[in-house]
Amino acid sequence: MSNYHETIAERIIAGNSLTAEEATALAAAAGSDAFALFLAACRVKEHFIGPGIDLCSIINAKSGRCPENCAFCAQSAHHATDAPVYPLVDEERIVAGAKDAEKNGSHCFGIITSGTTINKGEELDRISRAVRRIRQETAIAPSCSLGIIDYQTAIALKQAGVETYHHNLETARSFFPHICTTHDYEEDVETVRSVKRAGLKICCGGIFGLGETAAQRIELALTLRELDVDSVPLNFLNPIEGTRLAGADNITPLECLKTIALFRLLLPAKKIAVCGGRERNLRDLQSWIFFAGASGTMIGNYLTTTGREPEADWQMLKDLELTVESCCE
Ligand code: SF4
Repeated sequence: MSNYHETIAERIIAGNSLTAEEATALAAAAGSDAFALFLAACRVKEHFIGPGIDLCSIINAKSGRCPENCAFCAQSAHHATDAPVYPLVDEERIVAGAKDAEKNGSHCFGIITSGTTINKGEELDRISRAVRRIRQETAIAPSCSLGIIDYQTAIALKQAGVETYHHNLETARSFFPHICTTHDYEEDVETVRSVKRAGLKICCGGIFGLGETAAQRIELALTLRELDVDSVPLNFLNPIEGTRLAGADNITPLECLKTIALFRLLLPAKKIAVCGGRERNLRDLQSWIFFAGASGTMIGNYLTTTGREPEADWQMLKDLELTVESCCE
C-alpha cells in the first residue's frame, strides 16, 4: 500500500471521515494506486466489520407492470421487455423461498415487489403473514422491499417481524432526473427517514453504470452517510433489452471495484453488499469484491436475471478462506 493510502486507512480507522475532495482524488486511482486503494478499503473493512462476510437472497414476489419509469428496470411498464409479469405470489411461495435461501446459506431473505408502493390491504396482510411464518419456521431474517412506504406501513412491517426495510436511492440526487421522472428523489429519501423513525433497519444503496460520473457515485455515498443507513447494496447495471439503457456499457470491472472501495472508505462501519450485475460486470474479478472492501454479497437469482449457482459462490468463499457469518441480527 502506498504511504498515501496507508495514511487514509489509518485516519479513517482513527475515526476521521473521508472528505468529498479526498474521495474524488482517490476515484482517479489507476494501476498500482488502484490496488493500494483496494487494500486500504480492505483494512478499513477488517477493522470495522471484522473478517466475516454475510450472504443474502431475495424473492421477486410481484413482478412487472410498475408505473415508474426507472431507465434500467426490466419491470417498468414503460419498457417492453421479456421480464415476467405476475401479481403478488401466495404466502406459501414466499415461505418456501425463505427456506430455500436458508438452505443456500443466506442470513437475510428479501421479499421484493415491483410497483411504486404496496397495497395496504390484502398485499400488506399477505406479506405480513408470510413474515410471521418465516420468523416461526426458519432462522433467516426477513426483510422487505415494497417501494415507497409511509411510517404506518413501516410500523406494521416491524410488528410482523421485519427487521430491515430495503429501499434504494438508485443514484445521486443530481443524476436521478436522467433515470426516473415519475417520482421525486425526495419521496425515496422520505421513505428512508420513515423506516428509520419506525425503528426498522434500513438497507439502501444504488446501481452503477447508468452513465453517472465518479463524482455522482461519491455524491450518493455522501447522501447515504448523511442518512445514516445501516447497510448498502451496490448493484451494477445489467443492460436489459427493451429498457432505456439497453446497450449501455458504462462500467469496467476495475471501476466497479473502485466504487466498492470508495463506498467502504466513505461508509467505513456499514455493511456493504455487492448484489445485481456482479457476474456480468466483474467477470473474473468477482472474488476481488472482498479485497475492495465488500462485507457481503447476494447469492442465487436477482429480480429478473439469474445469478450463478450458489455452489460456485460457496467455492469462491472457501477458496478465499472467508468466514461466512450473519450480520443481520
Ligand atoms: S426500479 Fe422499482 S420503482 Fe423503478 S421501475 Fe423498477 S420496479 Fe418500478
